[in-house]
Amino acid sequence: MVIETRNVKETLELGIKIGQEAKPGLVIALEGDLGVGKTVLAQGVAKGLGVEEMVCSPTFTIVQVYEEGRYPFYHFDVYRLEDPDEMYEVGFEDYFYGEGVCMVEWAEMIKEILPSSYLKIEISKDPQQGVDYRKITLTQVG
Ligand code: ADP
Ligand code: MG
Repeated sequence: MVIETRNVKETLELGIKIGQEAKPGLVIALEGDLGVGKTVLAQGVAKGLGVEEMVCSPTFTIVQVYEEGRYPFYHFDVYRLEDPDEMYEVGFEDYFYGEGVCMVEWAEMIKEILPSSYLKIEISKDPQQGVDYRKITLTQVG
């Protein structure tokens, strides 16, 4: 499924819808360049799950945990991982195979440890469509 958004609000709204429909155990693998809107989409999903707290990119930790929503929300940003092994130190399995909703920014960097089934969301820009245009492709894997 392909969704095109033309401003931040539309991407947020898509995230909210995904968060509202999310079931426990959902893992969302986010792909796309820096500044494409991965964190914006994650903010929407958090909101859709009922998280009131401000969600920002977990820059200093690999995972940020939000417990106040319908299900726990586990927001990963693996951009700064030196080695996929660091995911084991974080205990990613408890999150990926737990009862919460996981969202992983830069998931292409940890492909080998993604679960067999996940929702892949690729976000890309298209300068010809304007600076705020985003093409968001959702693919169910496995
Ligand atoms: P990432 O996490 O992928 O690095 P961010 O979500 O932090 O990206 O930043 C996305 C940036 O793009 C924000 O500054 C946001 O305001 C801007 N932006 C412009 N148009 C859109 C859009 N349609 N959807 C999402 N973000 C957008
Ligand atoms: Mg980000």
